Amino acid sequence: MKVGLVTYTPEKVEGFDLHVYYSKWADGQVFPAAKGMQNDVTVFCDAKAIREDPSIVAASISGPALRKNRRSNLAFDFVCPTNPDYRTKVLDYIESLNKENIMGVTSNLYHFPDQEYCICPRCVESWKQSGLNWVDWRAQTTTKFVQETKTRVKGTFAVEIYPDPVLAKERFGIDFNAIAECVDYFHVPLSSRDYLTMYWVDMLAGDFAVSLKKPVVLELSAEMPTDEKLNALLKTVAYVSRHKLDEVLLLVHDSENAKQVCRFAVHNSELRDWMTKYEFNEMNRMIESWAKLY
Ligand SMILES: [Zn+2]
Repeated sequence: MKVGLVTYTPEKVEGFDLHVYYSKWADGQVFPAAKGMQNDVTVFCDAKAIREDPSIVAASISGPALRKNRRSNLAFDFVCPTNPDYRTKVLDYIESLNKENIMGVTSNLYHFPDQEYCICPRCVESWKQSGLNWVDWRAQTTTKFVQETKTRVKGTFAVEIYPDPVLAKERFGIDFNAIAECVDYFHVPLSSRDYLTMYWVDMLAGDFAVSLKKPVVLELSAEMPTDEKLNALLKTVAYVSRHKLDEVLLLVHDSENAKQVCRFAVHNSELRDWMTKYEFNEMNRMIESWAKLY
């Protein structure tokens, strides 16, 4: 079993395999390429771009795709996915990352905000021209954009997905099977403030491991400082490691946060005994490898 990191700082940490770096954030901040790492690009969520030009926001009968529009339950502000200028801007940025010596690009939030979006005049016209129904037109729009993104990426190309195994196509326009054909792996974030209740993580990890037609990399949140939360997180990693996952990624603030997780595991004999007792041998091997470093 492999464990990697998703991080906001462009530094690799010993003891971890894949390193994913957030190079473009949902607030609109854009950073230079992180060399040797998988660069994660937030595509259509860009609060800064929408502030600068409010006309580019995705639209619905319940109002715009903004967090402050409480009729929609959105975590981010979404640009309309068919906006040609914005698409060009993001694709050019992705191309610029690929001029550096990076591992590859992970595309994130490259789809529609939810099922009632987007009804701007350009989207409605494009939908009518397509001759497709609403669900299929939105899925085709998203798939084509993912295919276009891939042409700008030289190395590993992955996509994050909204962790909805049933309604992703209807709600977000994400057709897992169509997208599987052009990605190297799926990155599935199952974010939480803690994993003290974790059955849903184990369940969704299993669902995605059997249903996605490309390797699956799972992301869990590790930015929590307390012993109780770290203990629950590491036991959750142990349980999900029983599924056919390529790797588990831990979301951390920075390298010190990652080392904190390692040190907690290494110096916690109760946790290591628990891993041994219940035969999570892969986890124990990983903790032993951390023990040589931390
Ligand atoms: Zn639109």
